[in-house]
Amino acid sequence: MAIAHILASTALKSVGIIGSTLWIIPLILASLTYIHYDKLDPESPVINQKTLYKEYDFVVVGGGSAGAVVAGAINSPQIMMLSGIGPKRDLERLNIPVLADLPVGKNLQDHVGMGGFTFRVDKPISIVQDRFPAFAMSMQYILNGKGPMTTLGGVEGLAFVDTKYGNRSWPDIQFHMAPASVNSDAGARVRKVLGLTDELYNTVYKPIANQDVYSLIPLLLRPHSRGWVKLKSKNPFDDPIINANYFDDPRDIKTLVEGAKIGINISETNAFKKFGSRFHIIPFPNCKHLEFRSDEYWECHIRTISMTIYHPVGTCKMGPRWDSGAVVDPRLRVYGVPGLRVIDASIMPTIPSGNTNAPVIMVGEKGTDLVKEDWLGPRQPK
Ligand SMILES: Cc1cc2nc3c(=O)[nH]c(=O)nc-3n(C[C@H](O)[C@H](O)[C@H](O)COP(=O)(O)OP(=O)(O)OC[C@H]3O[C@@H](n4cnc5c(N)ncnc54)[C@H](O)[C@@H]3O)c2cc1C
Repeated sequence: MAIAHILASTALKSVGIIGSTLWIIPLILASLTYIHYDKLDPESPVINQKTLYKEYDFVVVGGGSAGAVVAGAINSPQIMMLSGIGPKRDLERLNIPVLADLPVGKNLQDHVGMGGFTFRVDKPISIVQDRFPAFAMSMQYILNGKGPMTTLGGVEGLAFVDTKYGNRSWPDIQFHMAPASVNSDAGARVRKVLGLTDELYNTVYKPIANQDVYSLIPLLLRPHSRGWVKLKSKNPFDDPIINANYFDDPRDIKTLVEGAKIGINISETNAFKKFGSRFHIIPFPNCKHLEFRSDEYWECHIRTISMTIYHPVGTCKMGPRWDSGAVVDPRLRVYGVPGLRVIDASIMPTIPSGNTNAPVIMVGEKGTDLVKEDWLGPRQPK
């Protein structure tokens, strides 16, 4: 998802579009040196002669220019750190000249959920891959707008609940409800995506391959754990190191265990019972020494199959000047780097209690307004 895509870039004489979404906008009188590889146009003009990494195809923007980094919660900190904006010690270790010593890459948060939480049903109401030949299913969708392909990314229900650990101001668990599970494609793909061992798949899910099931995915909305993004090297073609650090704080696993128990209660309601709903009771081989369905068992299950819902945020945290964890101020300007903003999911100080796409769009809209205000001045009342 592109944000900040309406950054009035034409009016500001945008100097380049990086990838599909990242706009670098020169702002007068700012002094910034940062680098970026232009995926679309390696021939892009080098605005500043101060090329830090001559050996690579970089666009270097600086000295009289400035812009906004909008590469998302993983790549924005990577770009910032490659450009010398980040934790001094880490940058010096990689011999990157330090432009600003800031806690870039810290405060990584994500929504992590319990995977493989599977319930069987007696009726043919779920997605079983064998039952849906691709061509017929596609035609059904194209011609009539009906059939399994109308399912919203496989998630047909959402619920927000409070556990006993919640603060009652916001829910602490969200459920994604899907009419399928690990067994629904008979082990073709999902087990690989989740990285399940053969022993786990063969023991627990193979016996019900291609049978009707649904899954509930309780996920942690307000994790206490914090992860980080760091540079592996000063080579921008190297992926950054990402440590999500899920469940580092013991409160997180306790909350998710409560989510599992609420999930069992949901599955036992009359609405689900109508379909013969029952928990799939083969214990995980690595957890079978624990009492089945005890808190300890759920913890073992969660630690065995956890899954991200792909909502990383927080790595260029917005905060007031006195906040030692802050990277950008409340107008999204990077502390100590005049003219540079970050406008994407990485500025969120705390992950929201819900999916992140809409909040990020809001960040983009607000960031756009802030840039325009700085250029045009605040709107005067008529
Ligand atoms: C698989 C998946 C499913 C999701 N489903 C949902 C959902 O159902 N609902 C929901 O609310 N949220 C969902 N999200 C989360 C949501 O998409 C993100 O929170 C949101 O897109 C973040 O926006 P962003 O602008 O911060 O980053 P991004 O959307 O990641 O945008 C960053 C852009 O920068 C570009 N970029 C990065 N590095 C470089 C580089 N070095 N050079 C050039 N370009 C670069 C990227 O290509 C990308 O286009 C999902 C995310 C994923 C990955």
